[in-house]
Amino acid sequence: MKTFTYTGSPARIVFGTGRSADIAAHVEALGCHRALVLATPHQKADAEALSARLGALSVGVFAGAVMHTPIEVTEKALKVVEDTEADCVVSLGGGSTTGLGKAIAYRTDLPQVVIPTTYAGSEVTPILGQTEGGRKTTVRNASILPEVVIYDPDLTLGLPVGMSVTSGLNAMAHAIEGLYAQDRNPVSTLMALDGLRAFKDSLPVLVKSPEDTDARAEALYGAWLCGTVLGTVGMALHHKICHTLGGSFDTPHAETHAVMLPQTAAFNAEAAQAELAAAAELFGGSIGGGLWDFAKSIGAPLSLKDFGLVEADLDRAADIAIENPYWNPRPIDRASIRTLLQNAWEGVRPD
Ligand code: NAD
Repeated sequence: MKTFTYTGSPARIVFGTGRSADIAAHVEALGCHRALVLATPHQKADAEALSARLGALSVGVFAGAVMHTPIEVTEKALKVVEDTEADCVVSLGGGSTTGLGKAIAYRTDLPQVVIPTTYAGSEVTPILGQTEGGRKTTVRNASILPEVVIYDPDLTLGLPVGMSVTSGLNAMAHAIEGLYAQDRNPVSTLMALDGLRAFKDSLPVLVKSPEDTDARAEALYGAWLCGTVLGTVGMALHHKICHTLGGSFDTPHAETHAVMLPQTAAFNAEAAQAELAAAAELFGGSIGGGLWDFAKSIGAPLSLKDFGLVEADLDRAADIAIENPYWNPRPIDRASIRTLLQNAWEGVRPD
């Protein structure tokens, strides 16, 4: 590519084992003294430990984050922000917790520190997906991008193997779509390829040894790279289908990405052959079949039918997925999307 536009992210990235211990210094560097720590109910104890580490700099914990950032939860958290006079939020967790921190920042402009514990990548994007009355909307705004991200591999040691696998494939999907994005640039391509490599190297190790600290660090490094690609360039068919399935059929987020990735990559393989060539090589020559083999080898789910989706849902899913035309390297029509969904539902190996 000889013509491109590149905008660097202003976020401060802090990476390394044990570095979340410096949380107080990062809050103070933002000029803040009253941090509200956010988490899901599941990670409440970890959030309380982080709050204790912050000492007088913490005004407490709100452990009510849930998937899809429902507006009612955001309103409850905003009330706590107001009552405690919090001047920043510290989000400890995966995309759900980061989403709540972003929703607060979008409405208050409070600075955010995020300590990610999955590989979803939301912490490095200016994108917020939220739900109101069951309807999911997405906003993109500079105020949504977290100011500081602390990647501490120690905090991912407890991420269960199954979630590590699906979350890793979720991140890899950002990289694959980033490789053929219309607005890609040489830096996003470098990040996407090294992100894919990092997960290819680390996930098989984590499946065997979930507490391997080197592999955990490598996977989290891959998460940063792939998340940054998601935050920088446009996504296409893969993300559209996953949002359709998650939004309209309530399929689980990371698992849906994991099942769809080999199928959507195969769908675009010919149209984006040059753009995907280096990634295909990484996975043995064929991008769709190679990713499917990789996913299978690390025990990832391979079929949509495993999530309770019934075959009759596929027609409506295809209708929704082709609504609002969007760019994709291979032009989209209903018949080919319906076939793609059938293959994903059955879990057939592409190619
Ligand atoms: P999640 O945040 O919903 O986490 C799933 C569960 O795992 C939660 O109960 C969480 O507390 C728990 N968990 C997280 N880390 C753990 C750890 N290390 N050990 C044990 N348990 C842990 O899952 P996710 O896949 O990270 O995030 C999904 C959400 O993020 C979706 O709503 C998705 O739309 C959103 N997302 C948004 C963006 C964006 O850029 N806006 C990007 C990616 C994902």
